[in-house]
Amino acid sequence: MKLRYSFCIFALFVGTLAAQTAKSPPATQPDDRFKADVLLIVAHPDDETGVSAYLAQLLDQHKRVEAVYLTHGEAGHNHMGPERAAALGAVREMELRHSMTEFGIDNVWFLDGHDTPTQNVLESLANWHNGAAFEEVVRMVRLTRPEVIVTWLPGFFIGENHGDHQAAGVLATEAFDMAGDPTVFPAQLAAPVHVNETLLEGLRPWQPKKIYYYSDAQEQDQFKNTGPLYQVTAISPARKLPYWQIAMEAFEFHLTQYRDYIEGLKKKDEQQLAKDWSDPVQLTFGKSNVGGSVTGDVFAGVTPGEIGFVSYAEEPMKPPSGVAVELAGPWGFYETFRRAHGLQHLPKAAVPEIAIASGATLQVPLLLRNSTTTSKEITLLLTAPEGWVTQSGTASYTLRAGDQLPVPVTLDSPKTADKAMDEIICRAKADGQTISTIKLHVRRRSGGLPQD
Ligand SMILES: [Zn+2]
Repeated sequence: MKLRYSFCIFALFVGTLAAQTAKSPPATQPDDRFKADVLLIVAHPDDETGVSAYLAQLLDQHKRVEAVYLTHGEAGHNHMGPERAAALGAVREMELRHSMTEFGIDNVWFLDGHDTPTQNVLESLANWHNGAAFEEVVRMVRLTRPEVIVTWLPGFFIGENHGDHQAAGVLATEAFDMAGDPTVFPAQLAAPVHVNETLLEGLRPWQPKKIYYYSDAQEQDQFKNTGPLYQVTAISPARKLPYWQIAMEAFEFHLTQYRDYIEGLKKKDEQQLAKDWSDPVQLTFGKSNVGGSVTGDVFAGVTPGEIGFVSYAEEPMKPPSGVAVELAGPWGFYETFRRAHGLQHLPKAAVPEIAIASGATLQVPLLLRNSTTTSKEITLLLTAPEGWVTQSGTASYTLRAGDQLPVPVTLDSPKTADKAMDEIICRAKADGQTISTIKLHVRRRSGGLPQD
């Protein structure tokens, strides 16, 4: 403590001395050491693995790649020792830093979000203190000034479907659209007024040129032709290894998560490893402010230099009318989010879907609206395969004019063997008519994250 105090006094002294005696003009250009071509914005250590074989190619092209992690990934198991929770987060940060140093990425930041092991993006955003996390991501975009952002796809799919992955994609998308807006977080942009400034950050607005997504959805075919596809079997001229192998070797640092699997890799021959690791990297095109095509190269149209703030496409929302029942929760959020950010072209499940464990309770979040001028009765009816038991929600509800009522319909799923797909159908009736039919596809399987 004493040493730290002394150091602070020393730093203050040097700072004051420098201010009094400086001969060189003050730095007026942003710090070029942190300028990125590509900024990866993800949730947990190991999230880079889905695109690292592509990032290795960018490094060979002398592109500057940097990464932001919203959490330390502290909510998992530990294959290496008893350390858990915050201590595990500290370990996983170091595993990632060692991996990235070996891989060739020096600038890696960890933000203050907490690992939230659910599928619900809204819970991840809440646990990260949504506004604070967004401010941090905007700061990182303004500091690193990326040409291109690569992040998780904001959407709900059967797969790992971690709410944190989705939340990283949500915040990265918002930062892509708003970091260039000089009215967003103006204290980040204000010029410092004190030598030892602690509040005003001296950053500049920054408008990234493109944003791309990737997904951990189980069904990867749905992303074909939604963006560029990068093969990973070529040999890196710098590393003399195929790109898939560079990615695999970077992954091998994540021992707390995958020790047994990583040890198993050492027993496989190259042919087997290539089979497991050489799937191409499929990106999904999000947005471009500089042209280029959906499936063209990420850097097509990207030329050096700053572009001005591009006000993002926001389609006017129609006011609700009549009597309606909608799927709410994360599914409802993504309908609104994608419309608000001009991302309605992004892939989504043909029928809303989720995976849960057999025997778990499924929650179907519904929103009932009466936008008429008279009171209405809405009746909810449910159809589910044999073995499902409705617990709550199916009833008749009286809504006064202008009312909105959230209704969680809950069902217990069968404890019987896992099943590829069950279809839950919720019908809503009012005035003797069916006003909405909402379907949800449910895959029952062991493991995986809880719904909430
Ligand atoms: Zn993850």
